[in-house]
Amino acid sequence: MDPYLPAFPPAGTAERPALTGLTCPACPGVLSVQSNGGSLVLACRIGHVFVVPELVVVKEQRVEQLLWSAVEALEELRALLGDARLDEPRAERAGEEAARLRDLIAGIQPVRIDGLIGNGKSDLGAQ
Ligand SMILES: [Zn+2]
Repeated sequence: MDPYLPAFPPAGTAERPALTGLTCPACPGVLSVQSNGGSLVLACRIGHVFVVPELVVVKEQRVEQLLWSAVEALEELRALLGDARLDEPRAERAGEEAARLRDLIAGIQPVRIDGLIGNGKSDLGAQ
């Protein structure tokens, strides 16, 4: 019996693709998987298509984007609370939390698969 792989069910066919537990990084769709010439190909309903190394890199990029979104939200919260003088201790903590996330992002080691390098080091938040 094959081991249970939570991301990949046994690959389906072009006529009957197997749904994965993964969402498409380009839209909210669920990815299906099929075997194509020995490679696994993942596709969503509207036609975004990935091979596994590409999907890993794009997923890693998405993690970094989401972390930067959290930094932005915390810094906005800090500014709002501070400027409105509503809860200055919380404003200070929000700034500290944003700084910790920046440190976490700076420490990301990007994935390297088959010549693809994940973009764990974009300059979006470099300051
Ligand atoms: Zn999609």
